Amino acid sequence: MTDKTELGNIIRSQIKTKALFNQVRSYAFDYMDTIHDRPVFPSPDTLEKLSVFDEPLPDKMGDPEKFLTLLHEYGSPATVAQTGNRYFGFVNGGVTPAAVAAKWLSDVWDQNAGLFVISPIAAHLEAICEKWLVDLFELPENTKAGFVSGTSTATLCGLAAARNFLLKRAGWDVHKKGVFNAPKIKVVLGEEAHSTVFKALSLLGFGLDDLIRVKTDREGRMIASKMPDLDETCLVIAQAGNVNTGAFDPFHEICDKAKKAGAWVHIDGAFGLWAKGSGSKKHLAAGIENADSWSVDAHKTLNAPYDCGIVLCKDESALVSALQNTAAYIQYSKNRDSMLYTTEMSRRARSVELWATLKFFGRKGIETLVDGLCENARLFARELKENGFHILNEIDFNQVLVTCDTESLTQAVLTEIQSSGICWCGGSVWKETSVIRISVCSWATTPDDVHMSVKAFIDARKRALSKQSKKESK
Ligand SMILES: *Cc1c(COP(=O)(O)O)cnc(C)c1O
Repeated sequence: MTDKTELGNIIRSQIKTKALFNQVRSYAFDYMDTIHDRPVFPSPDTLEKLSVFDEPLPDKMGDPEKFLTLLHEYGSPATVAQTGNRYFGFVNGGVTPAAVAAKWLSDVWDQNAGLFVISPIAAHLEAICEKWLVDLFELPENTKAGFVSGTSTATLCGLAAARNFLLKRAGWDVHKKGVFNAPKIKVVLGEEAHSTVFKALSLLGFGLDDLIRVKTDREGRMIASKMPDLDETCLVIAQAGNVNTGAFDPFHEICDKAKKAGAWVHIDGAFGLWAKGSGSKKHLAAGIENADSWSVDAHKTLNAPYDCGIVLCKDESALVSALQNTAAYIQYSKNRDSMLYTTEMSRRARSVELWATLKFFGRKGIETLVDGLCENARLFARELKENGFHILNEIDFNQVLVTCDTESLTQAVLTEIQSSGICWCGGSVWKETSVIRISVCSWATTPDDVHMSVKAFIDARKRALSKQSKKESK
């Protein structure tokens, strides 16, 4: 048994010597220095070795020096190299040293960003990020931001604000009366809305069978002329950046219709809202400023560290009325009290690294970043096409959908790529066709990485074809 004094002494001496921090600092630097040479996805052998962590909850206190070594020896190799230069899976993003360093400092601060009185610095940096983002996205003045884990939660918050606002206007107080007997809200969204939108709607009491799904075009854009007649009971959900094609809904048309009818518009702009940061791409997001609420991720296109999503809402009172809670011990201040804008009460101070990311890039850097992702996506598509692959989408942004000559070959090539270690792409289904989905999301990707990855595609196809022909000859 360790007694109380001994426990305190052990921890105090760890703070005093800094040995653990120096130890992991060298591991972290080692990881950064070798990221380009690591397999992008860990080998089966590495994954098998994760069993070194398997044990029942230990009785005795552990020796951090030993278990931090374990973490580096077995944990680091079992990461995906998504901070490297050839990770194209899902829609992720890279990180910058400036932001990670700021995050390290904020890790040491260990702030709870719930209220101004719990963390003035977190609240202050949130207020600054809010102003910068509203400016960058060209949103209405006084738009409020809540800083959450990601777009899933941001969308939940935005749609909660919308639901409560629309019902309040219809004379129904959701707080008091709940949702089950409430007047009907008609939810209108594109067939191609992201899965997290459906999750948020279902959490908020909307039935999925009840949604009005609007036809989309070949790129997955909502066809505005196919929208039903809207009225003041409608909640319209549009999308900036389709998760497969990267396509953007026609916001001007959608918002014009919605505004005339008094409907609420929410835009899921997880990765696409950042188009606003580029002079040559912002036309894609034109008209988003006419919506009422938005959700966006900083951990995608902006390359901020995980996790960092933002809900933005034009009507502060709608957001606050949906998300506030009260208790005798909560001490609100005249300053920004962040828990009014998010689902959580306690929350880490992610505004620190978001601020550092925005401050590092600045407008110019964001533009260069966004343009670079789009250029590399176009290069990818061009080189793949030249090498006999098929590209299924228009490359307006950072997404590329690839197929081979047959469905089975596409799937076999995907498997080969995922185990190649050279790059990593995910799969998806687009218009009932299996596709390999490339998402260029990191500042770290260079044209050389694209060449190397295209070569990995060609080699993967060779291996897949030779396996197929072996199977057939058996
Ligand atoms: C990634 C994504 C989401 C979900 O965001 P998380 O940060 O993973 O919660 C929602 N919508 C779109 C379009 C996305 O690309």
